[in-house]
Amino acid sequence: MTKTTTAPQSPRRYRPATELVHGGTIRSGFGETSEAMFLTQGFVYETAEAAEARFNGADPGFIYSRFSNPTVAMFEERMARLEGAEDARAVASGMAAVTSALLCMLKAGDHVVAPRAMFGSCLYVIEELLPRFGVASTIVDGTDLDAWRAAVRPETKAFFLESPTNPTLELVDIAAVAEIAKSAGATLIVDNVFATALHQSPLELGADVVIYSATKHIDGQGRCLGGVILSSKKWIADHLHNFLRQTGPSMSPFNAWVLLKALETFPLRVERQTATAARLADHLAGQHGIARVIYPGRPDHPQADLVARQMRAGSSLIAFELEGGKEAAFAFSNALRLIRISNNLGDAKSLITHPQTTTHQRLSEEARQALGIGGGLLRLSVGLEDVQDLIEDIDAGIAAAGVAAGRPRVAKAG
Ligand SMILES: *Cc1c(COP(=O)(O)O)cnc(C)c1O
Repeated sequence: MTKTTTAPQSPRRYRPATELVHGGTIRSGFGETSEAMFLTQGFVYETAEAAEARFNGADPGFIYSRFSNPTVAMFEERMARLEGAEDARAVASGMAAVTSALLCMLKAGDHVVAPRAMFGSCLYVIEELLPRFGVASTIVDGTDLDAWRAAVRPETKAFFLESPTNPTLELVDIAAVAEIAKSAGATLIVDNVFATALHQSPLELGADVVIYSATKHIDGQGRCLGGVILSSKKWIADHLHNFLRQTGPSMSPFNAWVLLKALETFPLRVERQTATAARLADHLAGQHGIARVIYPGRPDHPQADLVARQMRAGSSLIAFELEGGKEAAFAFSNALRLIRISNNLGDAKSLITHPQTTTHQRLSEEARQALGIGGGLLRLSVGLEDVQDLIEDIDAGIAAAGVAAGRPRVAKAG
């Protein structure tokens, strides 16, 4: 059996759907069809000389599963082929990916720039955790390119952003921010969870590092946590590899196996979820009691031009605001029978979130206002159900929200 401790040996050979079925497979001597799950902590060596060669790098085999395991390596290579990245490392969760990507390259005295509109835990890492270790940060409006430029200092080492953002599906112009990062000598790290690798390629837009929570669309079936960091071989060798090896936020081989098999159906799932989301966004936009629908892919998205330039397709997420505030939003959510209330996303099951009282509860009311997170805002993660069943569920939610907002019942549009 041949193997390596690092992910990609070659760039993508086939188109993504093909790589997601075959890419990175390492077959053992048994010639198994489906990828094997190597639940082993360590590896044995035939001789003392063989152990020495493994440790001094003359033989690039596996040493210890904290930093190298065949099942995890298969997942890493498959992800690298999907992204078109030179190299990848898998970690225990999306937040392990965010934290590791930042900590591995920063030191006291450095400075980071990031937008306010960000996944809540990412904001914690940048605004609260990094400053404890002497890394300063400036939080900007991500859509304001002048604000990015003005935030740059001589000691700025990293830019961090997500696009589309959680939960209001606002875009950041990745290519433009990448230019600013380049002239500042800063590394641009993009959290690409909401767009997915299928619909947006930050590395092609000029980013240096891409991270994912594999917990979301990559698993897509609500089972395992996971995270991935993708970049050049050089960045991973210079910054990330040793950090992960010595600190150990490792992905379990069991989770890697689940995620590896999930990648085989990843394009089928994401395409279907996106197509259904587009239909639901259009349906919602025509209803009484819906103040606004934010969906990248609709012509009324505030940044429709940027969506067209930067993304290959829309999103499996929809944000919408109900007239009648929190009361209407709660009535809507409570009336749903099929769509479940949950803070997760990217799942086969459609899930609804009220950001103000859950994922963004920690923020001040002022900060939420600045992000457009009001009481009436809901975020819908679209699953794999039949679109007609979802429409019927949503209609029940709209009717209940209307009653809560004191509106007389109206005949259903369409
Ligand atoms: C979920 C998520 C994360 C964190 O991922 P976990 O796997 O839950 O740790 C980071 N960024 C974004 C945009 C996410 O949606």
